[in-house]
Amino acid sequence: MTIHCLGSINVDHVHRLTAFPQPGETLQDISYSVGLGGKGTNQAIAAHRAGGDVRLIGAVGADGDWARGQLQAFGLDLAQVAGVDAATGHAVIHVDAGGENQIVIHGGANRAIPDAHVEAALAGAQPGDWWLTQNETNATVGSTMRARALGLRTVHVAAPFDAAAATAILPHLDLLAVNEGEAAALAAHLGVAPEALPVPSLLVTRGARGAVWRDGGAECSVPAFAVEAVDTTGAGDTFLGVTLAGLDSGLAVPQALRRAAAAGALCVGRAGAAGSIPTRAEIDAFLENSA
Ligand code: ATP
Repeated sequence: MTIHCLGSINVDHVHRLTAFPQPGETLQDISYSVGLGGKGTNQAIAAHRAGGDVRLIGAVGADGDWARGQLQAFGLDLAQVAGVDAATGHAVIHVDAGGENQIVIHGGANRAIPDAHVEAALAGAQPGDWWLTQNETNATVGSTMRARALGLRTVHVAAPFDAAAATAILPHLDLLAVNEGEAAALAAHLGVAPEALPVPSLLVTRGARGAVWRDGGAECSVPAFAVEAVDTTGAGDTFLGVTLAGLDSGLAVPQALRRAAAAGALCVGRAGAAGSIPTRAEIDAFLENSA
């Protein structure tokens, strides 16, 4: 089946600094790099690299040629990437000498995806396909409701976390994916225990402590692989994308989660977002070496 990802496309501008600027101060950076990012893009790349059949549905602005080129280089289909009258989504990331970061995000085109564009993507979907969203675009709740009515399996990653947004989409989900902090925040907002979040399936990632999947009363835990973490950016997105690709290929939950944990470990061992997401062959080799 197909994994349709209504997702953000960001350009990440990373400036390394000796120290963060004070209010009113102008600073020269030490180095500058630019990379492709956005939670939706990362998840789409992770699922695609793991072998999933993925369609990324999103938007860029008139300044979006670089992002389009990058998406293409990662093997994603551009057919459902619209051009809109807004700046391409981007993040300005400052990293100080201690590795601490400060991030400013501009949603831009990610928050201006035309309804007709989303509707056209849904029209091309089949019952049993996946409909994946995150909290970085417009049209998440409406499209998820439509997707479910059409018989798609609906998945939402409640990040960046916003309690009201997560609460609004919750009743329309088959699977909610969150990290531990987000699970606790949403549970507190709803006045329930984190284990009792009202959703058919719940995936909670726990960083170096692995992940837990809850399905009604059943629970499946996978440990993380012991690796030296260089940069954890994109680990959660990688885990989710690889989990969906695994489930879609017919793997049972424990096997899909084990592949996702291997992919997460490979991702945290490298710097960057999209560029640090492993391929299926890398996941296979990692698991073989860990056996
Ligand atoms: P991010 O926001 O940085 O993308 P997240 O908070 O959404 O991350 P995490 O729970 O930190 O997601 O990580 C997702 C998965 O990646 C974990 O369940 C684990 O399998 C793997 N992972 C994360 N950190 C580590 C680590 N230090 N060592 C090994 N595996 C890790």
